[in-house]
Order: sequence, then structure tokens, then C-alpha cells
Amino acid sequence: MPHLNPTDAIRPAHVEVSLGAIAQNYDAIRAHVGTASVMPVVKANAYGHGIVEVARHLMNHGAPCLGVALLEEAIVLRQGGITLPILVFGGVATRQIPQFIAHDLIMAASSIDKLRQIDEAAAAVKTKARVHLKIDTGMERIGVHWYNAEKLLEASLSFTNVEAAGIYSHFANSDAADLASAKEQLARFLEVLEFYPKRGLQPPLRHIANSGGILQLPESHLDLVRPGIMLYGVYPSKEVPQTVKLQPALSWKSQVVYFKVVQPGSSVSYGGTWQSDHPVRVVTVPVGYGDGYFRALSNRGQVVIRGQRHPIAGRVCMDQFMVNLEWGTAYNGDVVTLIGDGISAQDVADWAGTIPYEVLTNINSRVPRVYV
Ligand SMILES: *Cc1c(COP(=O)(O)O)cnc(C)c1O
Repeated sequence: MPHLNPTDAIRPAHVEVSLGAIAQNYDAIRAHVGTASVMPVVKANAYGHGIVEVARHLMNHGAPCLGVALLEEAIVLRQGGITLPILVFGGVATRQIPQFIAHDLIMAASSIDKLRQIDEAAAAVKTKARVHLKIDTGMERIGVHWYNAEKLLEASLSFTNVEAAGIYSHFANSDAADLASAKEQLARFLEVLEFYPKRGLQPPLRHIANSGGILQLPESHLDLVRPGIMLYGVYPSKEVPQTVKLQPALSWKSQVVYFKVVQPGSSVSYGGTWQSDHPVRVVTVPVGYGDGYFRALSNRGQVVIRGQRHPIAGRVCMDQFMVNLEWGTAYNGDVVTLIGDGISAQDVADWAGTIPYEVLTNINSRVPRVYV
């Protein structure tokens, strides 16, 4: 990992993203899933890594398509020159349909009514719209229930301006140690898919596996898999077997901007929640919850300075926090690693009482991204 170069960023804090690591993770997933194709999921600013940069790198690396959550995210990709097929997972509001069609995006459709609206909008501009049918097999979020799906599949065959190019579902518990509910969801999905062979039809692209499914349920890989967190080198939970070797793609670095000795009885930061009974060296780091570094890390998180782990002292402020060095050494300008150098996104999540997904997606636009 190269050292922090002050010319890389205006402020002494940045996120370093290894596009090479993301490409290697993509390759490792491809090798693991055999004949299934891989749809990289780049929603939420590519899990904090930078949506356009990550998408462009994966496109040049040979990814066949992309997945995002929102219409807006897909439009940002189109404006950034991404020409791949893009599936938008979230629901489609009626007023958004012309935009989806204008940007040549794949919609998630889960009702006959929506299919009809899409069909009419596509006919109006003399084109064929593409959709993937969304089946709810137990997540209870979006999609037609598996026990009501047959009518939707039937209807999808009848619209002349809509191509149902895919059919998919989503796991609620594929990252758990107990796979009973994920297996039940998969069984329900496979039951829905029997519609096609029963009618002598070739099914469209069938997909259900997120990172948990990729790692834990090979029978769920089907025609396509949708890795998100794995692509960024992070496992979806501590329970999953690490059956694919991944490399973390993101590190978060800052610099020491202030050094002092704090005397016993003097408390550090808002609320006076931390003090020492002996003199200690304390340094200040110019990152805070205003950057997405959780306030829940107050008195709990750790950082690495000069190869040593040190604890956060007192509350994380909006723009700064303090670190207790005890009698360790650090100078102004020394690199402070918040994620990386042995601190994983999972470690930060554990300290903050959340999951690595939230740690990564929470790093906001105030923190410059540097690509290596
Ligand atoms: C976010 C998302 C994924 C990726 O999930 P990971 O757990 O990050 O792999 C896949 N499919 C859908 C529909 C999603 O919303």
C-alpha cells in the first residue's frame, strides 16, 4: 500500500481504493461460480468505493452487466459512459418508466399492472423495454409472492413491447450459519421456475444468489450471481465459510494533526467521557462522524499509527477525534489508518455495533477517494 501522498487530497484524510483488488475479487467469484455469469452490484456508490470508477474498471475488465438499487444510480452510470446492461433492483414508480426506457435500463417488474404500464410506455416510443420479473420468496420486501407468481409469468409472455429477459429473487438469510430459511427460499424460487419447462419454454436468466448465496449455496448460483460486498473484499458476515479468497479493496487513512500530553483529571472531548489517571500522550485525527466515521466508535474504536494499534479516547466529534497513545510515539503528519493495516471493515463494524456494509456505505462524499 503506497504511503499517503499529501498532493493526493486537499485535506489530510482520504479513502484509498484498489481497483485491481476489485477486479481480482471479481475473477475469484467467477472462478467459484463456474458457468454462472457475474453481475457486479455497484449500488450505494459501489459500497462507498465510487460508483463510476468501479463500474468503468469492471466494464473494461469484462463484466457483462451491472446491478444498482436506484434509477438515479443507473443514470449516473450512463452519464459516466457505462454502456453495459444495468438492472435496477428497486421498484419502478410509474412516472419513472420513460426515464428507464430512455436510458436503456432493465426494470424490476412484480405486477401485471406495472408490466402493462411499461408495455404502453415502450409502445409510445416504438421500442421494446426489458424487465426482470421479481419474485418474493420470503424477504417480504418487493416482488410478487411466490405463491402468486404464475399469473405474472403468464402475463409476461403476452406483452409485445416488453421482454422479460430475467427472473429473480433475493435471500434474506444466506449469510447465516443456519441455512434452513435460505434453502426454503431457493426451493420456492425453483418451484416458480417450473412454469417454463412445463410449457416447453426456455426460462429467461434466473438469479437469486447474493454474496451469502455465492459462498454458502452452490445450488443457488443458477444462471447469474449478484455479488456486492464480496466484490469489495469483505465477507457478508462472520458466520460464512470463506470459500472464496478475497482482498479488501478499501483503506481509510488520515494524518496526525495535533500532539499533546493530557494530565490526569483532564477529560477528553465532548461530555468528558474519558480521562486517564496518569499523564498520557494524545493525538488528534481530523476525521469525524461528519465523514461517516461512526460516533458509536467513541471510546471503543482503534486506529493504527506507526504499526501500532491505539484506542480512541473520548467521543468522536463531527470533524475530529482523539487517540490515546499512552507513551507511544507519533508526530504531526504521521499516517493514521482507520480501515486497513490489519483493521478490517468487520472490526470497525464490531466496535460500532453494526455490519461491514454500513461501515463502507457510510463513508460520505466529504472524504476524497484516491484510486490505486
Ligand atoms: C444489494 C443486493 C445484492 C448484493 O448483496 P451482497 O450481500 O452485498 O452480495 C444482490 N441483490 C440485490 C437485489 C441486492 O439488493
